[in-house]
Amino acid sequence: MNKKYLKFWGTRGSCPVSGPEYIHFGGNTSCMELLYENVHIIFDAGSGIRPLGKAFIKENIKKTDLFISHTHWDHIIGFPFFDPVYLSDASITIWTPPSLGRPSKELFNELLAPEFFPMRLSELKAGLQFKVFDDHTPIQMGPITLTFHKVNHPGATYCFKIQTPHQTIGYTTDNELIEPFGAQEHSLIEFYRGCDLLIHEAQYFSEEYAKKKGWGHSSLFGAMNFVEKTEAKRWLVCHHDPAHTDADLMQLEKLALQKSSIPSEWLRDHQKVELT
Ligand SMILES: [Zn+2]
Ligand SMILES: [Zn+2]
Repeated sequence: MNKKYLKFWGTRGSCPVSGPEYIHFGGNTSCMELLYENVHIIFDAGSGIRPLGKAFIKENIKKTDLFISHTHWDHIIGFPFFDPVYLSDASITIWTPPSLGRPSKELFNELLAPEFFPMRLSELKAGLQFKVFDDHTPIQMGPITLTFHKVNHPGATYCFKIQTPHQTIGYTTDNELIEPFGAQEHSLIEFYRGCDLLIHEAQYFSEEYAKKKGWGHSSLFGAMNFVEKTEAKRWLVCHHDPAHTDADLMQLEKLALQKSSIPSEWLRDHQKVELT
């Protein structure tokens, strides 16, 4: 068994979807698992974290770090359905961005308020620790170094750079790239320069983006231009619009393959990417 991989448990953005038109790409919201030797990290707790929790129980994994890019629903809604939170011998460290406005524990407590959920945060059995990451302090976990950068999305929203001994991976679920690029985009281009693998959304066709400027998501061509400027070796696209069917996503993928100089692929739920 390869002990180094990324697995995408949720590749949808904004809202989970289900139905015959979503079978190929899937409908769970953001959740990516990184396993690298003995380091286990989860990025975002969208609805995709529910099946990941089942896999953790099966593999008897009791300790994990969960990094939350931001606290919009599609990135936290799966948390109460992550089975390890109900195990008394499980230990979960929840990392959130700085400047949320309120302590993250308070926000999670509210997510599990009696009006919304039958159990309180204090009733979950796992040991939960709440910590804050920031853009100035890299975090080292075994052979993995994580760094953070703010992105252009409503609220305190961050993206990640994951450095292993053999590759550099960028992970950005929600980011509106505004052309012509300004200081924010150029800073992010430098942050991701030369990545082996860049995971970045491309949520809208051009005509959709024209109506949704300021919503915090990118057009295909905005994202394509950005990824080309980073000189990443490979682009994987996540955070698909809930309105987009399999046919729409295949159309976006086809456009990128025709127009972009960077090899690209639209991610599917449960897709695994082996690492070296
Ligand atoms: Zn999102
Ligand atoms: Zn969001």
